[in-house]
Amino acid sequence: MTEILTRSETGLDVRPLRNLLDGDVVAPGDESWDEARLAWNLSVDQRPAAVVLAESAADVSATVAFAKAHALRVAPQGTGHGAGAMGDMSDTILLKTERMRGVTIDPEARTARVEAGTLWIEVVEAAAEHGLAALAGSSPDVGVVGYTLGGGLSWLARKHGIGANQVTAIEVVTASGDVVRTDWANEPDLFWALRGGGGSFGIVTALEFNLFPLTEVYAGILWFPVDRAAEVLKAWRAWTEELPDELTSVGRILQFPPIPELPEPIRGQSFVVVQAIYSGADPAEGERLVAPMRALGPVLDTVARTPIRELSKLHMDPEGPAPGAGDGGMLDDVDDHLIDLFVEQVVGAPILSAEIRHLGGAVARRDSRHGAIDAFEAPFIMYAVGMAPTPELRAIVEDAVGRLRDTLEPWEADHTYMNFAESRRKAASLFSSASYHRLRRIKAIVDPTDLVRSNHPIPPAF
Ligand SMILES: Cc1cc2nc3c(=O)[nH]c(=O)nc-3n(C[C@H](O)[C@H](O)[C@H](O)COP(=O)(O)OP(=O)(O)OC[C@H]3O[C@@H](n4cnc5c(N)ncnc54)[C@H](O)[C@@H]3O)c2cc1C
Repeated sequence: MTEILTRSETGLDVRPLRNLLDGDVVAPGDESWDEARLAWNLSVDQRPAAVVLAESAADVSATVAFAKAHALRVAPQGTGHGAGAMGDMSDTILLKTERMRGVTIDPEARTARVEAGTLWIEVVEAAAEHGLAALAGSSPDVGVVGYTLGGGLSWLARKHGIGANQVTAIEVVTASGDVVRTDWANEPDLFWALRGGGGSFGIVTALEFNLFPLTEVYAGILWFPVDRAAEVLKAWRAWTEELPDELTSVGRILQFPPIPELPEPIRGQSFVVVQAIYSGADPAEGERLVAPMRALGPVLDTVARTPIRELSKLHMDPEGPAPGAGDGGMLDDVDDHLIDLFVEQVVGAPILSAEIRHLGGAVARRDSRHGAIDAFEAPFIMYAVGMAPTPELRAIVEDAVGRLRDTLEPWEADHTYMNFAESRRKAASLFSSASYHRLRRIKAIVDPTDLVRSNHPIPPAF
């Protein structure tokens, strides 16, 4: 029995590591194996060599040393929202940071410090206590670290840029097992790479970043019947031309399945919606800006003054693990022709949500202090997702999302956004050419044997 509990099916003896850790090690054959290897995205079947549930930076260092000694690799994971792009993990220890939680707000400096496994909702709520807002994503339970290392597109991005470029310090265990604190003065190249280059450069144990004074926004959703999709999306696209950076918006098609978990008014129904988030000081100005969309006559209008902590619910993302298959890409333009094709491909397809987010503003502005993603030039980003509770349904949804992406290919930008790419992409397509080559050189210095594995890996330069 002991043999079954301590030796994996691959013959890996994890007992020496288990003895060193505050946290746990779970190997194939252990009772909790199937639970331990689960990702937030329940449709991804992760089969690593072992799972470490780390509780401290020392646990992370010990895992790195153990992996090295056994010619294994280490893949850090906060929640597994981004697990879809991981690929085969049989030579990899999955290092979960979900037990490393904690948020400290410095209200004077307007900064937050989080431990590696912290979720966005934990930061949003702690910051709101001090009248501050974080550059959180649409989903309350996305991990702060994975989101931020990949870029971080929040509802405030057009005003404040991507989350990675508001990071002030990062603590990381490197592939050599050292615990390093990086910022503009210490290990500046590593600091640059971590801010937007993804999880290839070390295992982050803590992150510090700026917050912004903001207690409420003027935000919500305008709902229209789906048979008005082309008309509403074209009006939305034209509307985005003149908007200030304080207003971020999304044009989206939602097709809810007829399942009892959903509230009656939306169960089995389809809609085209416009989501609007205005973060300027005067809600009356937000109301004036939203008026042209309101004039289209939505069947439901929830755009109103909204406390900042409620913003995490606006996009209606699932608030717990869910099986999904999705993918996205950046768009050089959105015109009427694209919208007609988008509607044609999405309506009636096994796609729950297909959205186009408006970028531009601070997202597109360059600055010498920025990290690996200096700016996104593309003015729009598309993302589509469907429910995939079985491998068969996953294949069907992937096919529908793939067809949508193929159809929009003539508009697709050269570079795409790592966090919205749930399939493996060419690493070079995630960055500008100069950034990509610099990332590869830094990877070669900090992790020449490619020990640390990301869902969107950057290969070492040599
Ligand atoms: C429902 C939903 C809504 C989303 N909304 C948004 C949004 O509004 N804006 C946006 O920008 N993105 C959004 N995303 C994408 C999301 O930001 C990415 O999937 C991101 O990678 C998730 O980070 P995570 O830590 O939760 O996921 P994980 O799968 O745990 O991590 C993803 C990757 O991050 C790296 N990583 C994680 N933790 C560490 C660590 N401690 N050290 C080093 N590397 C690490 C690893 O390479 C890992 O493979 C959304 C995704 C979903 C599923």
